[in-house]
Amino acid sequence: MSQVPVNLPSWNLLAERSLAGELINRSEALAVLRAPEQVLLEQLAAAYRVRQHYWGNRVRLHFLLNAQSGLCPEDCHYCSQSKISTAQIEKYPLLATEEILKAAAHAEQLKAGTFCMVISGRSPTDSVFAKVLEAVRAVKAQYNLKICACLGLLSEEQTKLLAQAGVDRVNHNLNSSESYHAQICTTHTFKDRVATLQNVKTAGITTCCGGILGMGESDDDIIDLALSLRQLEVTSVPINFLIPIAGTPFEDKQQLDPRRCLRILCLFRFLLPSQEIRIAGGREVHLRSLQALGLYPANSIFIGDYLTTPGQAAHRDLEMIRDAGFVLESADGSILEQEPLARLVGSHFK
Ligand code: SF4
Repeated sequence: MSQVPVNLPSWNLLAERSLAGELINRSEALAVLRAPEQVLLEQLAAAYRVRQHYWGNRVRLHFLLNAQSGLCPEDCHYCSQSKISTAQIEKYPLLATEEILKAAAHAEQLKAGTFCMVISGRSPTDSVFAKVLEAVRAVKAQYNLKICACLGLLSEEQTKLLAQAGVDRVNHNLNSSESYHAQICTTHTFKDRVATLQNVKTAGITTCCGGILGMGESDDDIIDLALSLRQLEVTSVPINFLIPIAGTPFEDKQQLDPRRCLRILCLFRFLLPSQEIRIAGGREVHLRSLQALGLYPANSIFIGDYLTTPGQAAHRDLEMIRDAGFVLESADGSILEQEPLARLVGSHFK
C-alpha cells in the first residue's frame, strides 16, 4: 500500500473548525477531494462528527413526483427532458390533482417527510401554475407532508402565491459553479437561478438548492458551488451524481466512483455544516455498495424513483438505514422508532 502524504490536513481539526463556523480554506477543501483512498474512513468519521452535532443519527426521507415530464424548451445538457435530448422518456403534461394526491398518499405511507413536486420547463405557464397551487392546497389539506415545489424560474409574485398556498420549500439548484454554468446550459444563466432563489427567500419560503456532480467540472468548480450555496444560506442541499443518460449531450461523462462521491459529500458537510444534505439522483448508480457510508456526511435521501430514472426499492433504503444504525425522522421532526421501521422494512414496499 502506498504511503499517505504527510502534508494532509487533520480531518478532525477540519471538523472542529467547521463546527465552530469557520470556513476551511481552498487548499484544505482541495485536499478533501484529492485525499488518498487509505484515509477515506477517517474523512467520513470527521464529517460524521459535524453531521452528528446538527442531525444526530436521524435520516430524512423525501419523495419525488415528476408531475410534468419532458417537452422543455431549455437546453440543460444533463437533462433527458430538454429540447435537445433524444432520450426515450415518458412525456406528459401536468398530472391531474387526483394523481398528485395518490402520489402524496404513497409518500406518507413510506414515511417521507417531504413531498417534492417537480415540473419540467423553464417556468410554469399561468394555467399550469394555477393548477399547481390547487394541487398544493389539496395535498396540504389531506396529508401531514411538507411540500417542496420545483417549478423552474419563478418571479417574486409567483413565490408569494406559493407561500400563500402552503408550499414549505422551493427547490431550484445552482447545479455547478458560476464559471462552469455556461458549459451545461445556454438558455438561462447562473444569475437567473440566483434571482429565483432570492425571490423564494423574499417570500419567506425555505430554499432547497444543490448541484449535479460529474458533469466535467473541476475540483475548484465543486468548491465554488459549495461556497455559493453557503453564501446564499440555503436550507437544504441535494447532491446529485450525474447519471449520463443516452441521448443527452452528457451521455459520455464518466468521472465518478463511489469513493469520490463520498469525498464530495464530506466536502459539502465541512463547508455546509448545519444544512440538510441530501444524497439525491445517482445514489444507487454511483455509490453502489457504499451507499450506507453516504449517510455519515449526509442526513437525507430520496425514497422511490427519480425524475426519469428508477431508484432502488423502498424497503432496501429502509433496511439500509436500519442496518447502519440510523433512525428515520418523521414529517413532524419526531423520530420514528426502530420497531415501526422494522415493520416498514418487513412490509417490502415497492
Ligand atoms: S433541468 Fe429543468 S429547465 Fe433544464 S432542461 Fe431539464 S426540465 Fe428543462
